[in-house]
Amino acid sequence: MTISFENTYVNLPGNFYTNQLPEPVNKPSPILINEELAEFLSIPIDWINSEQGIGMLSGNTAPKGSNPIASVYAGHQFGSWNPQLGDGRAILLGEVKARDGLSYDIQLKGAGPTPYSRMGDGRSPLGPVLREHLISEAMHALGIKSTRALASLETGEFVMRETSLPGAILTRVARSHVRIGTFQYFASIKDVQALELLTDYVFERHYNNHPVRESKALALLEAVMESQAELVAKWQSIGFVHGVMNTDNMLVSGETIDFGPCAFIDNFKKNAVFSSIDHMGRYSYENQPNIAHWNIACFAQALLPIIGQNETRSLELAKEVIERFPNLYKEKEEAQMRPKFGFKKKLQGDQPIMEEFFLLLEDNQLDFTLSFRRLSEMAGETPEFSVSEFAGFPTLFDEWLNKWKARIGKEENQETQTEMIANNPAIIPRNHLVEQAIKEATIGNLNLFRKLVRETANPFDLNASNIDLAKKPRPDQVVRQTFCGT
Ligand code: AMP
Ligand code: MG
Repeated sequence: MTISFENTYVNLPGNFYTNQLPEPVNKPSPILINEELAEFLSIPIDWINSEQGIGMLSGNTAPKGSNPIASVYAGHQFGSWNPQLGDGRAILLGEVKARDGLSYDIQLKGAGPTPYSRMGDGRSPLGPVLREHLISEAMHALGIKSTRALASLETGEFVMRETSLPGAILTRVARSHVRIGTFQYFASIKDVQALELLTDYVFERHYNNHPVRESKALALLEAVMESQAELVAKWQSIGFVHGVMNTDNMLVSGETIDFGPCAFIDNFKKNAVFSSIDHMGRYSYENQPNIAHWNIACFAQALLPIIGQNETRSLELAKEVIERFPNLYKEKEEAQMRPKFGFKKKLQGDQPIMEEFFLLLEDNQLDFTLSFRRLSEMAGETPEFSVSEFAGFPTLFDEWLNKWKARIGKEENQETQTEMIANNPAIIPRNHLVEQAIKEATIGNLNLFRKLVRETANPFDLNASNIDLAKKPRPDQVVRQTFCGT
């Protein structure tokens, strides 16, 4: 029993990565192993729980067939160019074929220093590991493409931050870890051959159904733009603020990655910002689509040498694609928002009804998640488990609610409530609960963490055992700021 690794990234030229073994840890002990994900990845459950399995998850033993590497990339961080970044605290063990026939990266995060660690120690404290485990899995359950968590494990060692904290390792799974910043790195060192190889690699791995006209690079630009637009539209639909949309944190696979400072909006505010270092609100809720557009322009810039036959043609083609982003995004956002309101038919006047709802939410400081959930409940009989107790609409909503009811009355099918409920989650990893879970875990109590992981796995299902997690924070529990927590 073992894992069948493929190592396709290692087949790329040597300047794409450095061979790097994880640094062994003292006393590894698993916190949570995601057996459902292990099964999906065709990893035997008995094996992953065995000494060999823990050996892999802790970095203490490299499993047979793996070929551990740290990859290089660059990126724009808060708009400033950083010519060289890379996996500073992440080591890719290899890829595995999953039950869906696709290959997935298995990466250890916090497994020791690499040549790209700069001033860092390559390690991770327990808090950020639990945060990523919980939120990335919740995103997946919400139907949003995301890297996933195969396991969290304590190292038995301490890491020094502002204080000494317990160390941990997250085993991250992704369709791949190639970032916009990976392309930017090779563009910046003018390695056109590497750009071509990387384009072929990503195209084959993720987008080989996308029609090719003129060049693969152009097709890749179109495909990545579509998947980024889709991803951000989904973030907007659940009030998710990523917080650090640097180009090195944007996977070309279209999965959400990097859960450092992210947060879900409680009371709706369109310019919501949580990250302690986002002073200018660059990555605020309302700015996320613009930033995705900006990042795609960076991607296009990196691909320019290989888009067209010559520079002029490349520019012309790239420009024509990037200019389509705003409309493409609007379409995707509408497609995500409409089912939240129970709108199936496309009728005139739908858009203003949706816009007005957001204005009312903000003016009345209402909770994003609960308000949409309550609206869903109002599309039919009040269900057995209802958020109505802690999410009523003030009378100021009466006029709007009448308009909305008249509008959903025009739908032919009677399933509006069921469909709305399936599009409006009740159980999300609320910031105050995530912080409380981490605080308690740091002093040895993992109950809340485990409960949150379990309940956010079924975010649309409200029941007796999770309704306490649906509540919004009391004023004294509201989390206003998040920290990258490396
Ligand atoms: P992030 O803010 O997580 O996107 O990280 C930005 C860069 O810093 C990446 O290249 C990381 O690999 C690196 N980095 C972050 N934390 C550490 C750490 N503790 N040790 C080494 N490198 C790190
Ligand atoms: Mg990052």
